[in-house]
Amino acid sequence: MPKVYNWQLGRNMEYPHEAAFPKRQFAFVFNINRCIACQSCTMACKSTWTFSKGQEHMWWANVETKPYGGYPQFWDMKILKLLEEANPGGQVWSKKDGTFQFEGQTIFEAAKKKLTPESSRVLGYLPEDHEWNSPNIYEDNPKGPKGQPFQWDKEGVQLPVHKTWFFYLARICNHCTYPGCLAACPRNAIYKRPEDGIVLVDQSECRGYRKCIEACPYKKVMYRGNTRISEKCIACYPRVEGNDPESNGKPMETRCMAACIGQIRLQGLVKMNPDGTWAEDRYNPIYYLVHVAKVALPLYPQFGTAPNGYYIPPRWVPRPYLYQMFGPGVDEAIERYMNPDRELLAVLQLFRRSNLIIFSYKFEEGPKIFEGTLRGKPVTIYNDTVIAYGKEGEELFRTTVEEPVYERPAQHANSI
Ligand code: SF4
Ligand code: SF4
Ligand code: SF4
Repeated sequence: MPKVYNWQLGRNMEYPHEAAFPKRQFAFVFNINRCIACQSCTMACKSTWTFSKGQEHMWWANVETKPYGGYPQFWDMKILKLLEEANPGGQVWSKKDGTFQFEGQTIFEAAKKKLTPESSRVLGYLPEDHEWNSPNIYEDNPKGPKGQPFQWDKEGVQLPVHKTWFFYLARICNHCTYPGCLAACPRNAIYKRPEDGIVLVDQSECRGYRKCIEACPYKKVMYRGNTRISEKCIACYPRVEGNDPESNGKPMETRCMAACIGQIRLQGLVKMNPDGTWAEDRYNPIYYLVHVAKVALPLYPQFGTAPNGYYIPPRWVPRPYLYQMFGPGVDEAIERYMNPDRELLAVLQLFRRSNLIIFSYKFEEGPKIFEGTLRGKPVTIYNDTVIAYGKEGEELFRTTVEEPVYERPAQHANSI
């Protein structure tokens, strides 16, 4: 098998194809701390792309309540279990010279153990029909009492004391750098676009073998029974290309991003190096959040697909659960998120101020507006400005750390 470099693992890994990378890569950051599970993203995708006959069970965008929720049910627990069975006790990270390296096996490396049929190039499993049937299963069910496995909390919790926890995990296809779905397809019907790294299924080449569904560890390819071919999130590529009539030719964020009520989502296109790492682009907000501030982490990097979805981890969840889900950078990411410097606080204001893709930003210092303590630590807040620029360097908008206050005029006091 060819060797490719996976920067999320800090090492080379085996992958069934030679490495090939796009010029730019579709990527996104979701701030879990702000998601309210309103499901507006879910419905925006559903009403745009999967409302037809044969697509009833398809939710390309979904939001599940962790730890118990999952669409399809238990997808992550099942793949983690398969990896553990293939490499018992070996799925660990090491730290050398300050950098982390994954010492375990990815879904491509573990497939050699032949846990799956001979023809499989990737370790995976095919969910059964009933596992796709309840996308909202266990919604808002908190983790059960300590020491009682497989129990959810039947009474719920009350403020101010939280003895139990849950959080919302919003998911779409990660348009992976090394997609499991693409690696497994015997007809090479799945491809990654050279211009933006979006992963698509060629509907005319697919014969519905469902190898991609078995191989995608995130279970983001779905089978359509009435056409007998597979379908998946297309990253709303007409919008990303700038072909949405609303965008006047400018690259625009996807439907699920634009619909986000909680303002947790920021999507962009990052520049790639010839070796698959991200080219330095200091003032691209996605690059900044992932590689400079390091507050956003990939979802299950140990699977090995180099997913391009990044998450600011939830600060209230037990750390071992988060280490398993986001890898070893969790403590530092949460620390920085809870005590942001001036630039990070300003960049966090870029989320959902516009539906156009931000290619770079500029930070401008403003006056001091608050001095006090927060969680026992001294804190000073400045009303800094962040300016967002588009593909051609044109200004898209500017916004400040302090949100403006609007007072409703007296004649509209009781109207909307
Ligand atoms: S998340 Fe799954 S479907 Fe999407 S690119 Fe990665 S492996 Fe393929
Ligand atoms: S990017 Fe577009 S196609 Fe993909 S989940 Fe979001 S709305 Fe659906
Ligand atoms: S629209 Fe945003 S806040 Fe609402 S569920 Fe989706 S990701 Fe969460």
